[in-house]
Amino acid sequence: MSVSAPCEICGSADVSETCNRCAKLVCDRHFNEETGYCVECAAEIGSTTSDTVPEQADMPDGVDTYEF
Ligand SMILES: [Zn+2]
Ligand SMILES: [Zn+2]
Repeated sequence: MSVSAPCEICGSADVSETCNRCAKLVCDRHFNEETGYCVECAAEIGSTTSDTVPEQADMPDGVDTYEF
């Protein structure tokens, strides 16, 4: 299935996934495969499947791994 829309987060044309929560079209870098969500949703719900954090870390909202 080919999509012509760019990633709704970074604007990259390299879109390969659709968020299962908000239906955003996102590129590989902004798709969390563990949850099936875009990174925004994954950050919002607070991932329970990613790396186990022994103690509650003080993480800023929406800023997870933003590499470019
Ligand atoms: Zn992107
Ligand atoms: Zn989403």
